[in-house]
Amino acid sequence: MACPICDGRMIRKRAEYRYYDVYFGEFDSDVCEECGEVFFTEEASDEIDMIAKEKGLWGLERNSKISYSGNSLIVRIPKDIANFMGLTKGEEIKMHPEGKSRLVVEVNI
Ligand SMILES: [Zn+2]
Repeated sequence: MACPICDGRMIRKRAEYRYYDVYFGEFDSDVCEECGEVFFTEEASDEIDMIAKEKGLWGLERNSKISYSGNSLIVRIPKDIANFMGLTKGEEIKMHPEGKSRLVVEVNI
């Protein structure tokens, strides 16, 4: 099987899977020797989905909009995510940009 991205040669090996910062384990995958892209096997993907469900991480991605208050912009954290992370009003957070399209917010610090 050739890499769908660069047409490079793929080798079967165990690769680590993380969902954001949560380590899931190592799973069977095809890894491209050229570009390093990792493709988990179908069985591995099913296993990963199952673990995500068990950990309560399944489908936690939400859309939100930026609004404003005074001179600041406000990002609303959807309730499901706040509940999952145990966030409450007044919580101290840290944030930093990772380039122009990703904002990392650290909580429970
Ligand atoms: Zn490749």
